[in-house]
Order: sequence, then structure tokens, then C-alpha cells
Amino acid sequence: MATRFDHDDDSVVVIIGSGAGGGTLANALAKKGINSVVLEAGKRYQMNDIENDEWEMFKKISWLDERITAGPRQLTETFPGLPAWIVKGVGGSTIHWAGVSLRFQPHEFKWHSEVGDIAGANLLDWPISYEELEPYYVKAERHMGVTGESTGMPYHQWNNNFKVLAAGAERVGYKQLRSGPMAINTEAYDDRARCMQAGFCMQGCRFGAKWSTMYTDIPRAEASGYCEVRPRSMALKIEHDDQGRATAVVYADGDGNQHRQRARAVCVAGNSIESPRLLLNSHSAMFPDGLANSSGQVGRNYMTHATSCIFGVMPKPVHMHRGTTFAGIISDEARLDPSRGFVGGYTLEVMSLGVPFFAKFMDPTNAGWGREITTALDKYDHLSGVWICGEDLPVETNGITLHDTKKDQHGLPVPVVYKGDHPNDEKLRRHGEQQARRCYEAAGAERIFKVPDFPTSHNVGTNRMSAKAQDGVVNQWGQTHDIDNLFISDGSQFTSSGAENPTLTIVALALRQADHIAERMQRQEL
Ligand SMILES: Cc1cc2nc3c(=O)[nH]c(=O)nc-3n(C[C@H](O)[C@H](O)[C@H](O)COP(=O)(O)OP(=O)(O)OC[C@H]3O[C@@H](n4cnc5c(N)ncnc54)[C@H](O)[C@@H]3O)c2cc1C
Ligand code: SF4
Repeated sequence: MATRFDHDDDSVVVIIGSGAGGGTLANALAKKGINSVVLEAGKRYQMNDIENDEWEMFKKISWLDERITAGPRQLTETFPGLPAWIVKGVGGSTIHWAGVSLRFQPHEFKWHSEVGDIAGANLLDWPISYEELEPYYVKAERHMGVTGESTGMPYHQWNNNFKVLAAGAERVGYKQLRSGPMAINTEAYDDRARCMQAGFCMQGCRFGAKWSTMYTDIPRAEASGYCEVRPRSMALKIEHDDQGRATAVVYADGDGNQHRQRARAVCVAGNSIESPRLLLNSHSAMFPDGLANSSGQVGRNYMTHATSCIFGVMPKPVHMHRGTTFAGIISDEARLDPSRGFVGGYTLEVMSLGVPFFAKFMDPTNAGWGREITTALDKYDHLSGVWICGEDLPVETNGITLHDTKKDQHGLPVPVVYKGDHPNDEKLRRHGEQQARRCYEAAGAERIFKVPDFPTSHNVGTNRMSAKAQDGVVNQWGQTHDIDNLFISDGSQFTSSGAENPTLTIVALALRQADHIAERMQRQEL
């Protein structure tokens, strides 16, 4: 029988969110015999809910509650209510994600020491080094089943999409070309099947080849008897006592009824928009600016990666949709090399889109349908695509604030998500676009074009780690500087964005945090 905890049981850790951070943490705590209650705003999906239909899946699982896109970038016009692509469901964004699992590089943990002050950027070193995190990278890779050295699983075969890009990239002089590391099985691993190379990974993987907390960590945590997951449970407010310790989480269930779950510790893992939103919403007489916000840094330094997406029309059919969505990675430009005119690097990740998404990405406002779009669609089977994933500098004014008047269905202020480019981001993006074009030119593309920028799915920052309490929200363990038993367990704790996709680092940090919480509980400090 499924474990049930009483609302008054204050021995449980309450985890808010069941995605990469929250789902991993719940399972890791369960393995240590620590009780937890996971509150997840979205519903629970089954394997047979997954279908190879981009729009069906997008509408079914995405976080579509109102959010306001703000800032000088074109996204305010093209996607005014969709600043970010995030999942609302048990498993969080790991249902959608594509499985690219890169480690951060050592210098990316100490940006400020490497490059000093940069005007307009709020650069800081992480309070944790690559060397400290490395053992947890290995654990995370084994945990998720990442192809490569830690698991011994071979990399994926190169699909046509990557072969085309790679042919051009090699002519341009790039050497670091790989079809991994990916958290997608190339052989049976961890009771999950190998990849069928059928494509559509971002609609969810029906075969379970791609790691997702939806069908790994969450059911395993529940099966242990130490974890209860409550789907359709939106956390509204974190409460605290007179000493300023977190004591309970108030949440609304699927029928809108409110409950209060008492807690020994609270771990917030709602992704980089909802996590600061919840802290800001939890203001009180003792914490008038929101919980854990004595620094004023909650909601600030929102980073998403400096991105762009380039397509090439090739002379022969490519069928880019066959094989994993992000089938290959080129890392030559990920290096630290300010001689290019910008700090930070980027990876070039070959990417495919299905026909409906491709049409929407070409023309987000549906205003077009001119020749430019129809001729590209006519050539769909000849397309190859590449996505630029580049370091996005932390800028204090980029972030999450609460709307003054607009409220959601629970009566909570709607989040306003402001994102502008630092001049460094613009330079990096232009360089990436130019290099991607060079690769496709060298591969013999007949036409090369960029699609308008789309809502990002790599949301980090907004509750960042810092050595000193005045510079950020959490310390090296994700524990808030202000509140001893309040933790941040998701990508919002990132101090910098790196040139790499974030999830492997989120999982490594969650595994490390679980060890820390268990040790502190053993010492009766929590
Ligand atoms: C299409 C797509 C492709 C991607 N591809 C990659 C990739 O290849 N590689 C990579 O590294 N990353 C990728 N990502 C990003 C990756 O999925 C995220 O970085 C990661 O899942 C974030 O983890 P998280 O724990 O911060 O949040 P999530 O995994 O988003 O989990 C947050 C959860 O919290 C819940 N929640 C939020 N607020 C509340 C609340 N108040 N109460 C209760 N529950 C709440 C949400 O419903 C959600 O389930 C991709 C994302 C998308 C959408
Ligand atoms: S290509 Fe592989 S990982 Fe992607 S959905 Fe198919 S089986 Fe899953």
C-alpha cells in the first residue's frame, strides 16, 4: 500500500517539485530511510499518455498557467505568455528533456576569478569547485545512465542530422565531435530498455530509454515506503516559526482545497521561475521581502543560456527527425578564450524538430506563411538543424518579480519574467550563428537560415549559490543562508550558466544535498 503521512507529521522533509532536482532528492533521501512528502503541482502521467504528437504533448504536460514575458528581447512579442518551456507534471521537465548530459568545466565554477568584473554583469564564483562536485558527477552519470566512461555504455550511433553537421564542422576544423554524453540508454541499463532511435524524445520517451524522474526516481522513492507523492498539489506558501525556521507548507489540492503539511525541513525544487516566486510569496512580518531574501537576490540573476537555432537545407534528404533529438555535440567553442571578443563558451548541439514545431518555430505569431516559410517546409526532409547553447552572464535585473495586480487560479500573484541580453551574450550568439552557418556552408547547404528565438527550457539562477550571505540565496549545499532548514534543490541555485545543458549538474547537486541533509539529521542538527 502507498505510504501516507499525516499533515501534522513534522518529521518529514517536504519537497516542492518532482523534476530533475526534486525527484532525484526524494529518491536519494528514501534510500537513506528519510521520510519525505513531495508536493507536485501537476498531475501524474502514465507511459501510455506519451504520444508522438508534439502539440498534444506540449499542451498536455507544459506549465501553461499565466506568466508574463518581459524585457527588451523579441520574445515579448512572439511569446508574451510563455517566457520559458517547463513541464507541470510528476517528473517535471525531465519528461520533455532531450537527455544531453554534459558536465560543467572547472573554470565555469569560478568565473569571477577568471575574468574579474564585467560591467553590467553580476559575476560570482560558485562556493563549490569542480573537484568537489566531480564524484557526484560520476554518481549522477551512473544514476541517470549517461553514455560514456562512468557507465561504460557506448555513445549513440550518429544519425543523418549529425553526420551532415559533422561533415561541415570537420571541414571548418572542429575536432571535439561526439554523439554523447546522453542520459539515453544505448543498451539495457538500470531496468530500462535501450533507445530505439525513433526520434520524438521531447514528447517523452515511451520506451523509458531516456532518464526521467517520472518513471525512475519517483516510483522508486514511493516503492521504498519512505516517500509520499501528492500530485495536483500546488505549494502556495512556506511558513516559519518565531525563530525563523521553516515549519510547514500550505498547498492547494486539485479541487482547490487548502492544506498545511508540517515539515522538519523544506526543499524547494519548482524550477527557476516558480521557486523564487514561492519564496517571494512567502513573505511575513519577520521576512517582509520574502523568505531567504535578506540579500535581495531572490528572483535575480535569471539565466537561460545564450541561444540561437540555425537550419541548413541540404542537397539530399536528411530526415533529421530520425534518431535522438539532440544527436550530437560539438564542444570546440566551449573553451574559455576571450580573444574571440566575449567571455564564456558555447556548445553546438545538432537538433531536430517535427513538422508542427518547425512551422511554429519559423513563424511564432502565425502572421507569416510567406514564401520563406513554405519553401522551408517544402524542404523539411532535407533540413538539418543546430542549436547554440552558450554561457549567459548573470545580470541582476534579469529575473522574476510578482505582478502587482494579476493573480492566478490560486490567488497568487502571476510571475513576471524579465530577460534581456548582456552585450557579451549578443557577441557570443553572433559568433555561434556565424560558426554554425560556416559548418553548413562547408557541408554544401543550399540555403541557411535562423529561426526566431523561442522560449528557453534551460532556466537557472534566481536563487543563486554564494560564499557570502549578502551575495546570494544559498550556500554550497543549497541551504538558504537565512533559514537553516530551508533548501533549494533545483537549477535556481546555479551561480553561472556554463556552456553546458544544466540537468546533469542539477542531479549531481541534489545527490550531494541528500548526503548533506542525511549527515545533518544524523547529527540532530535538522
Ligand atoms: C523540451 C526540453 C528539452 C530539454 N532538454 C534538455 C537537455 O537535453 N539537457 C539538459 O540538461 N536539460 C534539458 N532541458 C532542461 C531540463 O529539463 C531542466 O533543466 C530540468 O528538468 C530542471 O530541473 P528542475 O528540478 O529545476 O525543474 P523541473 O524538472 O522543471 O521540475 C520542477 C517541478 O516543480 C513543479 N512545481 C513548480 N512549482 C510548484 C509549486 N509551487 N508547488 C508544487 N510543484 C511545483 C513543476 O510542476 C515541475 O514538475 C530540457 C527542457 C525541456 C522543456
Ligand atoms: S529516440 Fe530513443 S530516447 Fe528518444 S524517444 Fe525514441 S527511444 Fe526514447
